[in-house]
Amino acid sequence: MNLQHVKAVFDEQKQPAFRLAQAKRAFFVDMVGGWDQVTTFSKPLREALEKGVAWSSVKLVVVKKSADAKTIKALFECADGKKIEAVLMRSETGRNTVCLSCQVGCPMGCTFCATGTMGLVRNLTAEEMVDQVMHFARELKPEGAQVTNIVYMGMGEPMNNYDEVMKSIRALHDPEGFNLGSRHFTVSTCGLVPGILKFAEEPMQVNLAISLHSAVNETRTKIMPVNRAFPVEKLMNAVETYCARTNRKVFFEYLLLKGINDTPEEARALIKLMEKNPRLYHVNLIKYHDTALYEGTPKDDRNDFLLQLKEAEIPVTHRVSFGEDIDAACGQLAVRESSTGKMTQGTEAARENRQSKPKPAGV
Ligand code: SF4
Repeated sequence: MNLQHVKAVFDEQKQPAFRLAQAKRAFFVDMVGGWDQVTTFSKPLREALEKGVAWSSVKLVVVKKSADAKTIKALFECADGKKIEAVLMRSETGRNTVCLSCQVGCPMGCTFCATGTMGLVRNLTAEEMVDQVMHFARELKPEGAQVTNIVYMGMGEPMNNYDEVMKSIRALHDPEGFNLGSRHFTVSTCGLVPGILKFAEEPMQVNLAISLHSAVNETRTKIMPVNRAFPVEKLMNAVETYCARTNRKVFFEYLLLKGINDTPEEARALIKLMEKNPRLYHVNLIKYHDTALYEGTPKDDRNDFLLQLKEAEIPVTHRVSFGEDIDAACGQLAVRESSTGKMTQGTEAARENRQSKPKPAGV
């Protein structure tokens, strides 16, 4: 919901200032589904709002649920017809994490990522990010459950849309609204150093995650073109600046790709990098779901990799993988709409995107 537009309607209708707080409460706290349900407002006022301001800037198009019902993927349409995806992951401990998109597509071209095959279409507004979260929050409410965590790990690179990402975090953190604690947000970057340095200066205690995927420059450049501009050393200098400034933990995401970044040499390089700050560095190993370009590391080899890190006393978690069967896992979010209007999602969309584009450099 765009609160500036709401205020404009109230001004036009000569409403007192407290109406805005009432609208915010209906949207973020009561989580009703539309203006017609805000019964604290008169009917004519509700009708004026209905005409002037969309309750949500994103419209639900398709929902997919994983077989175990723990993962729900939503495809949304924005007001300009662009499509984005967001995922709700539900754990047995009661954690309900929303993985949201911050861009339509992504310009960073990581070769293992379905979104990267789309290229950048446009940045999302803060409102479009907030509305992805609020969709799931409204879905959870009837069963007394809440969104407990928000991760900026869906489509797009948050540091490329920095101001709107931060604006969305402030909106969802607002104690008079959704009121989610700052430590429950995680912003994930593929390693854009200027963004990390800016993020280090933020007053809010939001978590930082780095999509590392290799500690070896040669490998990382092959799978993540961003490494040409910001190689591992430069990236880690920025991370250290962040740690020195915030004293906060940094999470390193590491998708295990068979024969690419799962070798003993890669493990040793990762250990060497992580040994520099075992108090604040934490590695998340993630299972990769096979695509036309890469295979995921088999289970036994993933366990071996994990063991090597554990033996070196590196804080490490083998992250649970969500939503593999509905293309909602890490690196699987993609949308493609053909000229005939036919729409495909996930790995199928990525395959079609790749076929219509030249092969990415370095693969
Ligand atoms: Fe973009 Fe992230 Fe995919 Fe890389 S992994 S292409 S940064 S969405």
